[in-house]
Amino acid sequence: MSEPSIFTRILQGEIPAEIIAETENAFVIRDIAPKAPVHLLVIPKTEEYRNVVELAAGDADLLAELVGLANSVAAEQSDGDFRLIFNTGERAGQTVMHVHAHVLAGELDEKSLG
Ligand code: ADP
Repeated sequence: MSEPSIFTRILQGEIPAEIIAETENAFVIRDIAPKAPVHLLVIPKTEEYRNVVELAAGDADLLAELVGLANSVAAEQSDGDFRLIFNTGERAGQTVMHVHAHVLAGELDEKSLG
C-alpha cells in the first residue's frame, strides 16, 4: 500500500483542517492556498480514484454526490454561482492524486483557477 493521501490524513484527523461540510461519502475543506475569495475542496472519503476520469468510470453516483455537495457549499459560502475544477494529471497541475474538486466562488476573474 502506498502512503495515505494528504486528504485521507485530514479526514482521519492526523492533519488539522476544519471539515466544513460532509455527506456519507464526501467531505469539504477550505483550500490552504486560496485562489479565489471562496476556494473549497470537495473530496471523496475514498482515495480509490486518482482523478475525475477514473471516478466517472468507476462510480458515477459518487461523482454526482460531489457535484451536489459543491452546489450546496457554494450556496452556503457565497452567492450560489461557482466554478468547478478537476485538475487531471501532473501536467494539468494536479499534485494530490486523490480526486478532488476545486470549488471557486466570489469575485472571480479568468485567472481564478484551482
Ligand atoms: P494544485 O496544488 O496544483 O492546485 P491539486 O489540483 O492536486 O493541485 O490541488 C491540491 C490542492 O490541495 C491545492 O490547491 C492545495 O493548496 C490544497 N492543499 C494541500 N494541502 C492542504 C491542506 N493541508 N489543507 C487544505 N488544502 C490543502
